[in-house]
Amino acid sequence: MPVKVLIPTPLRPFTDQKETVEIEGALVRDLLDNLTDRYRDLRKHLFDDSGKLRSFVNVYVNEDDIRSLDRFDTRVSEKDVVSIVPSIAGGAGSPAVVEGEVTFSREEIQRYSRHLIMPEVGMEGQAKLKSASVLMVGAGGLGAPLGMYLAAAGIGRLGIVDFDVVDASNLQRQVTFSAADVGRPKLQATKDRLSGINPHIEIEGHETRLSSENALALFRDYDVIVDGTDNFPTRYLVNDACVLSGKPNVYGSIFRFEGQVSVFDARRGPCYRCLYPEPPPPGLVPSCAEGGVLGVLPGIVGSLQALEVLKLVLGRGEPMIGRLLVFDALQMKFRELRQRKDPDCPICGERPRIRELIDYEEFCGIPQAREVERKMGVPTITVEGLKELVDERADVFVLDVREQHEWNIVRLEGATLIPLGRLPHEVNKLDSAKDIVVYCRSGARSAKATQFLLDAGFQKVRNLEGGILAWADRIDPSLPKY
Ligand SMILES: [Zn+2]
Repeated sequence: MPVKVLIPTPLRPFTDQKETVEIEGALVRDLLDNLTDRYRDLRKHLFDDSGKLRSFVNVYVNEDDIRSLDRFDTRVSEKDVVSIVPSIAGGAGSPAVVEGEVTFSREEIQRYSRHLIMPEVGMEGQAKLKSASVLMVGAGGLGAPLGMYLAAAGIGRLGIVDFDVVDASNLQRQVTFSAADVGRPKLQATKDRLSGINPHIEIEGHETRLSSENALALFRDYDVIVDGTDNFPTRYLVNDACVLSGKPNVYGSIFRFEGQVSVFDARRGPCYRCLYPEPPPPGLVPSCAEGGVLGVLPGIVGSLQALEVLKLVLGRGEPMIGRLLVFDALQMKFRELRQRKDPDCPICGERPRIRELIDYEEFCGIPQAREVERKMGVPTITVEGLKELVDERADVFVLDVREQHEWNIVRLEGATLIPLGRLPHEVNKLDSAKDIVVYCRSGARSAKATQFLLDAGFQKVRNLEGGILAWADRIDPSLPKY
């Protein structure tokens, strides 16, 4: 007498889409043998090569698992219903594949399939990625490709340190963010984006400024640190904290058309201080905010950093340790410079002088620079004050000391352009009898220009506080800001 066997949806392609099959047999073993004789393709889905029932397939007689009965020797009759029940991911989220200590769901196996079929990655490599923890310092231009690629590739625990807010001027290159994110904390917007890309990973946000007080504690819980910062104090802080805690530092930096990439691991090669023991004086190297950066560049440099992270985690290939990659986008040239460990390096050398984290703002000369600016104490005028003069039609000469390309973006009506660098050569064009108001973007360059004019004997010169940005904020919101 035939016995009814229920076929689950995933196996129906092998039973001509039949939900129920009637099979002869007195024992479960006979039933399954006869079933897989009739439907040969079904066999490999139910049994492994040694003929054992696969571990993710269970067989029930009525309500009972055959493991609680007589297993394959369980007797069946025409009154019984036999069900084949494979584990299905989702719902209860039962694991599909286990690699070492790491479990992958069916969705994850599908998601990572292009990795899994590569001999260099495979299940073993994907398990390493899933077990890995990476801390990204900064969620800006470099952080965008870094975060998205590391999340997509399946880095199991991704930490992000950032305290900034999304600004409209970020959207030209920080592709994690959409227009709707302007004004939101970068950390929150990044977390939303990355968990949208890969819901199977853990994303940890640290909404704080990385400091000498918190860096070592933050780094402790991660395997790899990625430097996506844009200023020297944080760059030296990341370097020193990595050396002191023995972690690799995947470094990237960008400026206008140029990028640099390296991996600093003081245990196996040089650190950032071996290359540059001290930072340039403040103001010598402009930041991206001052100097600009081409939109795609952080995408390339951040992607190269992400690649180095994956190689470090997988233990594959040659990491960029002891090598500095310099990328010139205009020439489309990648150059590689060899970097050696400096035996006199103040932190990773033979006799290190730095044994704990220091004050990095101080080290980079930033307080002194602020002090100099404050001491300059040139006479100033507020934007409201200038507005009054303009409304009164007072005879005031408005001098713009920015660059021509900034002038092309936005300028004050009636102003005259003489870029700061040309001022010494064109100072004779100015009338020292007139009231002069000097402005730039935010007030720093114009303070220098004002000081220069005072030194040159001008007496009625004032610096516009806050520059054209303050004018756009408080007087004429229709002006574009940059
Ligand atoms: Zn060093």
